Amino acid sequence: MLATTTETAEIRAEFSPLNFALFCAIVAATTIGLPLYGYYYGFSLFDWVLFLVMYIVTGMGITVGYHRLVSHQSFECPNWVKACILVAGGWALQNSALKWGGDHIRHHAKTDEEEDPYNATKGFWHSHCGWLFYDSVHRKDKYEIRLRRDPVVMWQDRYYWPIVVTGLLLPFVLGVWHGGWQGGISAFLLGGLFRMFMVLNSTFTINSLCHMVGAQPYSKKDSSRDSWLVSFVSFGEGYHNFHHAYARDFRNGPEWYNFDPSKWIIFTLSLIGLASNLRRNDPTIG
Ligand SMILES: [Zn+2]
Ligand SMILES: [Zn+2]
Repeated sequence: MLATTTETAEIRAEFSPLNFALFCAIVAATTIGLPLYGYYYGFSLFDWVLFLVMYIVTGMGITVGYHRLVSHQSFECPNWVKACILVAGGWALQNSALKWGGDHIRHHAKTDEEEDPYNATKGFWHSHCGWLFYDSVHRKDKYEIRLRRDPVVMWQDRYYWPIVVTGLLLPFVLGVWHGGWQGGISAFLLGGLFRMFMVLNSTFTINSLCHMVGAQPYSKKDSSRDSWLVSFVSFGEGYHNFHHAYARDFRNGPEWYNFDPSKWIIFTLSLIGLASNLRRNDPTIG
């Protein structure tokens, strides 16, 4: 239905039943199905280790791969390394790197404006996850042009859904190997479903809380804020005010003591020759 006057983008944008149904299914399975299964059957140490490892791998796939490598070109790496990182990011069920990067480039270009996909001026729930339920009318090709020139990004976009499926099959197969069919189910629930839920919320938190709570030591030109607390669950992405001020810097937490595992991984990759041209937009910081 078309709105006639000045209603919000949510009204003008088309509601996406698929996104909404998928989101509700993940939330219901995680908050109801998973605790019930745990109560009756329990989870093993193997399941929890799998959860932790896959949380770190897929979370870093988003922060190092989708965010700092693809969206901001904050470093370079060989194509095979990029492909591995983008497969890990694909496992997080956050859309392909092409779509994610296009949305994120628009977020930086239009922060706090109507075209900002996760516009925090519309409140916590819109910026956290409500924006996902609509196909934005502001998604334009111009934000994806640069990304479309990258063959690895286009490859990942083409095989996005098979990649998502392998990310769910992996914990199941490892669980079956470790503990039979029931081991497969419990490993899938923690290493697949719960891990996905937690990484999704970790990313959502940057778009919501890091535009609402925290300090603004680097810039007050938009609503972005630094939150060291959020960095602990988001692999260093909580230093969001610095990030908006120096978006191409490979670090989000510029000081040596800032908890930013994503910058440590990128720096470590550079030490072993798997990353190069690490960008620091302000050499006086950090
Ligand atoms: Zn932001
Ligand atoms: Zn960014």
